[in-house]
Amino acid sequence: RKYTYDYLIVGSGLFGSTFAQIMNGNGKKCLVIDKRGHTGGNIYTKEENDIKIHWYGAHIFHTDNEEVWHYINKFTKFNNYINSPLAYSEGKLYNLPFNMNTFNKLWNVNTPEEAKHKIQEQCSKYKDISQPANLEEQALKLCGDDIYYTFIKEYTEKQWGRPANQLPASIIKRIPFRLTYNNNYFNDPYQGIPKDGYTALTNNLLKDIHVQTYTNYFDNIPYFQSIAEKILFTGCIDEYFEYKFGRLDYRSLKFKHIYLDTDNYQGNAVINYNEAKYPFTRIIEHKHFEFGKQPSTIITKEYPQKYTPSDEPYYPINDEKNLKCFNKYKALAEKNSHVIFGGRLGQYAYFDMDDTIASAISLTQKELSI
Ligand code: UDP
Repeated sequence: RKYTYDYLIVGSGLFGSTFAQIMNGNGKKCLVIDKRGHTGGNIYTKEENDIKIHWYGAHIFHTDNEEVWHYINKFTKFNNYINSPLAYSEGKLYNLPFNMNTFNKLWNVNTPEEAKHKIQEQCSKYKDISQPANLEEQALKLCGDDIYYTFIKEYTEKQWGRPANQLPASIIKRIPFRLTYNNNYFNDPYQGIPKDGYTALTNNLLKDIHVQTYTNYFDNIPYFQSIAEKILFTGCIDEYFEYKFGRLDYRSLKFKHIYLDTDNYQGNAVINYNEAKYPFTRIIEHKHFEFGKQPSTIITKEYPQKYTPSDEPYYPINDEKNLKCFNKYKALAEKNSHVIFGGRLGQYAYFDMDDTIASAISLTQKELSI
């Protein structure tokens, strides 16, 4: 046997961990390496003061995919947390996603009929936009001036670091909009937070697998290329190919974790700060993800950042220029049978956790030819 491992998996995030779990279960020998000192990638939760901190940003699991839900429930139980974020703008708190509670507070309307009428009135100015060319046009066409200027424009521009009329319309399709008094952010039938945290979840996925942290693929490429028949790479695809077609853009984030001597800081897990005058997009109070009763609390402010090569990449920027560049890397990857790419960074896709698992499952099926 020429190789020590069937698969070297670079990156122990949700994609790598899911892939490793399934391949290992099918008799494939896997080694998972991660440059960080812990597994789990960006879903990692760190426990301090008995509170699980979503260390790289809040993660709320939600899905409508039966197969994914069935699969992941083998590795964790979920609590019954329902995401109901608030938006802080002009000194007031509004419910998200945009629903009757929001419209009631914004326009003082009580019935869906009144709200519908108000939205139509707001949108009538933009009815000539048939094919929204960018996020601004898409948002104005969908919700008109009040909602766009109160909740979307400034938040989006600080989140993405560019004018909203230079962003793809696709980003805003993620925001649900409804005419009921329902503050559940997601429409999916399954939702919750892993009961013992995301770290326990990825540890369970990786339970029987050889894992090495503090291990950077790029520190010894020839060695890592030589030990496994195939590599699953879940880092940035442009970095893997030494940026030969140029650098892909990402959006980065910085997190400020703050320990407070109060048992309840903001009364909700997630509050968005929609105005540009706040440099952060949201404040997370972690204990509320788990209905925590601890005597103190931990909050995290999330600051969007320009991405430079020394930063962590968080969001791919799926505009035309970057997708063109990504497609070149993808074509090159397809010619190389020794390496496969997966996950948000490997596939340059704005995946939610359920998409990540679905994509990893589908890759294992391809690899196992079932
Ligand atoms: N968004 C917004 N105002 C809000 C929340 C979201 O304008 O209060 C827009 C913004 O463009 C953002 C997109 O909706 O990038 C998706 O937001 P979401 O919070 O769903 O995504 P996440 O950043 O958590 O992946």
